[in-house]
Amino acid sequence: MGPGPSDVSPRVLQALSRPIIGHLDPEFIRMMDEIKGLLQYAFQTENELTLPVSAPGSAGMETMFVNLLQPGDKVIVCQNGVFGGRMKENVERCGAEAIMVENTWGRPVDTDEVKRSLESNSDIKALAFVHAETSTGARSDAKALCELATEHGCLSIVDSVTGLGGIEVDVDGWGIDAIYSGSQKCLSCVPGLSPVSFSDRAAEVIHNRSHKVQSWFLDLNLVMAYWGTATKRTYHHTAPVNALYALHESLLMLQEEGLEQSWQRHEHNHNALVAGIEAMGLSFIVDQEYRLPQLNSVTIPENVNEATVRKQLLADYNLEIGAGLGSLAGKVWRIGLMGFSSNQKNVLLCLSALDDVLSRMGAAINSGKAVAAAQRYYSKA
Ligand SMILES: *Cc1c(COP(=O)(O)O)cnc(C)c1O
Repeated sequence: MGPGPSDVSPRVLQALSRPIIGHLDPEFIRMMDEIKGLLQYAFQTENELTLPVSAPGSAGMETMFVNLLQPGDKVIVCQNGVFGGRMKENVERCGAEAIMVENTWGRPVDTDEVKRSLESNSDIKALAFVHAETSTGARSDAKALCELATEHGCLSIVDSVTGLGGIEVDVDGWGIDAIYSGSQKCLSCVPGLSPVSFSDRAAEVIHNRSHKVQSWFLDLNLVMAYWGTATKRTYHHTAPVNALYALHESLLMLQEEGLEQSWQRHEHNHNALVAGIEAMGLSFIVDQEYRLPQLNSVTIPENVNEATVRKQLLADYNLEIGAGLGSLAGKVWRIGLMGFSSNQKNVLLCLSALDDVLSRMGAAINSGKAVAAAQRYYSKA
């Protein structure tokens, strides 16, 4: 129950262990096409350029910038946590300029500040932001931010590594130009794949570049010889065949459950966790309206060594929760309720384990209240 990887269902693990076939086998190509269709469903898009990059979420991030930017471009980068800082790094390594809009960690990206930045700068190529900031648990208004980008004639680049499958992501409805996600957060697949999708407008930009993409491996103009629609697919790199079996299965599971049902399940289990955590006397660092249900940043009681608690949870309950990152290191725990991990059993286990470990350490909490509070929520909801 950390910030990812989440638990992987036995069904997905079983898919992973199927016999390997060639990466150009007609059956494999057929499955690749199905994965594209399933990703279009998950992203809610008809974008032709939709595929899983053969590398983790960070490579999805890099795929955005190396393909869309050229040296000298200007990009507005929003930072309200760890991952916006990585976007800045990517922009600068492409020889482009990052104009920063920075917000307090734990708060969403401030759309008014983004608007002011778009108005006071000209020739902005793209607006880049993190939809679901895993380092804090804050959700930003992706729809409003993408609308601002469109109004100002620039591309929107969205990190929804933690968002996809857990909260609403509407690529076509919100007018997102470029988006990346990860396999191991709310999709509950094994780590190592990064679903991406580009609007036709963004695909044009990639197609009409004057400079070659600096990364050979991530150059979508080359990757599409393998992942594109042509009847004859050519080798670019050896696809991670078994990992793609697993992604196919996890996306099928998402489709069987239904997108909206999955978002509701995440919300539901989050609400139960909130009831328990608050009954214990602890609180959340993100205001209720911006909280991600899949990533819960919880305050640490006074005079408690947070690392000792995590160690004890792991030793006594085989339970992993996350530490704070960056400026929140030592100040919060990050409890993940992502994908297959978002269930009643996990919520109750986490609350009873935390209650027990903290009580034994003599921490200032209301002992023995958390589980009952969550159970009351479940019985009423
Ligand atoms: C996890 C994460 C990433 C990076 O994904 P990796 O698979 O670890 O490379 C990027 N952005 C956000 C918001 C994330 O949560």
